[in-house]
Amino acid sequence: MDVFQLRDRILKGGRATRDEALELFTYDGPDLMDLFAAANRIRHHFRGDRITFCSIMNVKSGKCAEDCVFCAQSVRYKTGVQEYQLLDVDAIVTEAREAAKRGSGCFGLVAAWRGLTKGAILDNVCESLRRIKAEGIIHPDASLGIIEDASIARALAEAGLHEYNHNLETSRRFFPRICTTHSYDDRLQTIRFLKAEGIHICSGGIFGMGETVQDRVDMLLDLREVGADTVPVNFLNPMPGTPMGDVAKMPPLECLRCLAVARFVLPEADIKTAGGREACLRDLQSMMFFAGASSTMLGNYLTTTGRNSGMDLQLLEDCGLTAAEKGAFAAY
Ligand code: SF4
Repeated sequence: MDVFQLRDRILKGGRATRDEALELFTYDGPDLMDLFAAANRIRHHFRGDRITFCSIMNVKSGKCAEDCVFCAQSVRYKTGVQEYQLLDVDAIVTEAREAAKRGSGCFGLVAAWRGLTKGAILDNVCESLRRIKAEGIIHPDASLGIIEDASIARALAEAGLHEYNHNLETSRRFFPRICTTHSYDDRLQTIRFLKAEGIHICSGGIFGMGETVQDRVDMLLDLREVGADTVPVNFLNPMPGTPMGDVAKMPPLECLRCLAVARFVLPEADIKTAGGREACLRDLQSMMFFAGASSTMLGNYLTTTGRNSGMDLQLLEDCGLTAAEKGAFAAY
């Protein structure tokens, strides 16, 4: 397969097939730079040179009853992660203002629990979203787990939620190896409830958990199928105490290859480099945009520390790219 012919077909609106996506994972050695160059062109064509940033806040940390094997916040693993209940609205809004000052266009409320339930918790979340939205400085987003009732998605939409993150994490085939307390279909159903309310979908996965390239491609194809607007590409940063604590980190070029294939399979999506960026890409972080990413997170992750946001803004400038203006986010 000629990667540049595939690139040209995608630029004209074509779609990469499963076999083609699988073949992209075989690019190696000097050919790898061809893969990155083609992915970079696709990013430029569909997303331009304006990079989006988002920040997240862990609004409820630790003691999650689920058993996701990569997660330091599951109550089943001894990880020493900080534990606290849902923060109050003022604390959340204050942090949203700080994220806007750092240059983020989106601010996500993230909670460690199975899913969002009706009652006081939903009321608190909706009040936080309404207040952040009313300030008009940053888009309010959320990542609050499984939604089992359409009325919850409706309440979030009415409160002004812009985008909801709910990762597929991996392929349907591999999913039972990473979680047994909920299913792949639970995750797909959550996305359907949100889409029905017109909420943007942020959904991606974690690479480097022992999955095959077939698993990677099948997850990306499912993300294309569900119409993910934003696709976070996380690289496993093994957390001591979790069942994945001893898994070796993915090499940087393999991480970049995952970003490039994601760009080929989801050409119009906002491909976001997320967790594990610093730990796995190391000095090759500056390559992430040239391998197809159009977005990254600013500041800290859920249970690990990100780097100084000023370094990322400088990186953008050094790469000849610019930060998207806040208004640009409404376009996707
Ligand atoms: S549901 Fe979320 S917070 Fe809970 S264990 Fe899984 S990934 Fe961690």
